[in-house]
Amino acid sequence: MASLIEKLTNAKRVVIKIGSALLVDGDTGELRKRWLVALAEDVAEMRARGQEVLIVSSGSIAMGRTVLGLPAGQLRLEESQAAAATGQVLLAHAYQEILGLVDLKIAQILLTLSDTEERRRYLNARSTLSTLLSLGSIPVINENDTVATSEIRYGDNDRLAARVAQMMGADCLVLLSDVDGLYDKDPTTNADATFLPEIHDLSDEIMAMGGGVQTAYGSGGMITKLKAAQIATQAGCSMIIASGKIRHPLQAIEKGDARFSCFVATDTPRTARKKWIAGSLSSAGTLTLDTGAEKALGNGKSLLPAGVTRIDGDFERGDLVTLISADGKELGRGLSNYSSEDAKLIIGHKSGEIADLLGYSGRDELVHRDEMALN
Ligand code: GLU
Repeated sequence: MASLIEKLTNAKRVVIKIGSALLVDGDTGELRKRWLVALAEDVAEMRARGQEVLIVSSGSIAMGRTVLGLPAGQLRLEESQAAAATGQVLLAHAYQEILGLVDLKIAQILLTLSDTEERRRYLNARSTLSTLLSLGSIPVINENDTVATSEIRYGDNDRLAARVAQMMGADCLVLLSDVDGLYDKDPTTNADATFLPEIHDLSDEIMAMGGGVQTAYGSGGMITKLKAAQIATQAGCSMIIASGKIRHPLQAIEKGDARFSCFVATDTPRTARKKWIAGSLSSAGTLTLDTGAEKALGNGKSLLPAGVTRIDGDFERGDLVTLISADGKELGRGLSNYSSEDAKLIIGHKSGEIADLLGYSGRDELVHRDEMALN
């Protein structure tokens, strides 16, 4: 148990997903303000420990439908989009006001599926989120429900939260909802259901436990949580499912007062990313390094434009490229921070000259060491 709690307490970067049923009162459709105040205190403690926190919050549809006087039950797509547009304003305002009580700054980010699936949008979303974190802000993220159609939706915030955790290299994802973890059978209908506190392998048998457990508001269920666990753990991020039905749910986990299920990732986000890079099949181009750069890479440094003598191939920013030595030996692979067109203009130059050469200030590194896998 203690080592599982450390997955949360020792994480540098944590994504917390908050389900609609926790934020919005099922009877009145009102925000559960006191609950959110307590959660804000938990987040403030995490920040005070030096942890970076991102929140993925549901609740826009649940809040908006009450304001618009929409009926209970399943809504048509355009009705839920209208409800989301109405509720999201209230939701963002509630976070701003309540997290502000504990001196936390928030920023709203609304994402669509293409923002995490398309390389360029993904890179932009990631750099905005990184900047917000470095400025001490708490990004509050939701799906951009108003423009997402059924074919291009995440559809549930469990998977959205896992994609965010993957994109941001988070070490821990906490899904707070009205279930306290994974059971071998649906506990609401099976009195003999067994609770599983620790899961290391998302086997077919575990995935089959995902049936049931639905709430009236959220669109998740156990199956979307298990799919989220697949995405997160493959990215080196451990995932916790815990009940948020109590006040201070994160403190309760930390103190060992709350039960939870933990899906344990074997890799760290960094090693998982490097494995993914090493295992990628298609390389869009080649960067030839001088001997100085080759040596620097061997010492764990990033690849700077100054150390590259030649660019081959046609690639975009974020594409996978092969790194070769002056004598043509493959050294490894990495993700390029520049397109081949721009890279050709900056190679051989100092990073400080990039802005003048390209007319915009990009990254100092051509390939960052975290985005590189050496042979
Ligand atoms: N994006 C939806 C909302 O804010 C929630 C999706 C979900 O319940 O997972 O209402």
